[in-house]
Amino acid sequence: MILLAIPFFVLVDELMNAGGLSRRIVNFALPLIEHRHGRLGYVAITAAVIMGSPPGSAVGRHRSIARLWLAAMIISVERHVRAQPEVGKGLSYPMQCLNSACAAVFDMAEEECPVCGRYQGKINVRHAGDQRVALKRRYDQAVQGAQTRGVSDKIALLEQGAMRAEIVCTVGITAAGNIFRNKKYLNYYHRDFQGVAPSQPQDRSRRHMVDARLFTADRPEGYGQFLHCFALTIDGEALTTYGGGGVAIYMADSSYLRRNASLLEMNSFHFFRTFGLGNLTADEPEGYRARWADRAWIAVAKLGPALRANTTATDIGRLLLKTGATRDQDEFIEVHVYDERGLPIKDVKRVQLRTVAATPEEQEAWRHVTTEALRLGISVS
Ligand SMILES: [Zn+2]
Repeated sequence: MILLAIPFFVLVDELMNAGGLSRRIVNFALPLIEHRHGRLGYVAITAAVIMGSPPGSAVGRHRSIARLWLAAMIISVERHVRAQPEVGKGLSYPMQCLNSACAAVFDMAEEECPVCGRYQGKINVRHAGDQRVALKRRYDQAVQGAQTRGVSDKIALLEQGAMRAEIVCTVGITAAGNIFRNKKYLNYYHRDFQGVAPSQPQDRSRRHMVDARLFTADRPEGYGQFLHCFALTIDGEALTTYGGGGVAIYMADSSYLRRNASLLEMNSFHFFRTFGLGNLTADEPEGYRARWADRAWIAVAKLGPALRANTTATDIGRLLLKTGATRDQDEFIEVHVYDERGLPIKDVKRVQLRTVAATPEEQEAWRHVTTEALRLGISVS
């Protein structure tokens, strides 16, 4: 009987971790003592007090607390970096191995777990990483060109902008209501599959054609269906050609984006057309994709040649994202966030209503967005 107790205590602990209870306890404890120095120590103690009763054994408790403390450390660093992006420069992000049986902790920059070897990055990030050398070459050329024209300071301005940029997508007000109701941002495929927003047949075939060409990498069935498309923005501007310009949803630099996001130089349809990729014998040019960590490189490679001596920070924001008369004329760097289950809205940083909620249905949807956002600590404007 006594021997049976040990695995059961460990099991309870596993269940608490898997169910997110540990993380919730930390999230509860953090604000209580957040203003103090050495707050992680206090969080560990507070969490330990709360945690004291559920597992009921000293061994189980110590095991749980070690994990809790780790979770607290990660949450705390994430918050700190989110609050002050410039602090994040050169800072390592701790992360826990995706293999739950291993759970080793190491720097986010590691692509594979140093303990069990499990690959940590998503397929789109790896795909972009494969073209890193080609991207760096394009970046170096743009930097050199700017030096020749005497506008190196503008390159620095653009790089700083790209590093603190957010990603944004625009959806209709009713769609935003559904996203916050589901706690997930479902992409085109998810919605189509569920019959929430069935697409036009011509849109659908165009989409499938582009995805089959651009998002395959080493997975023959492709990964386009798991991508969520955003645009990179410095000044908070968003594309108005989507969802009637209704609600803009923003995400900012985080360990989630580092692991799940990659960039493409332009809109994927536009890219497909520009390089004649409808012709299967045409090769995709390399160096037009970037990992989230390399976003400054792709911004410079694309926009470096457009920088002039009189370019201002405001101009740079507009160069990066500009709504055209139609979707095909929009100019932006496309950001792909990979998530097989839909984007978790807890990672959303802010939402903004950009038009007027006119119908009762839209007003109801927007009320839902605000209530849910406030509950999750997402800012609303
Ligand atoms: Zn591992």
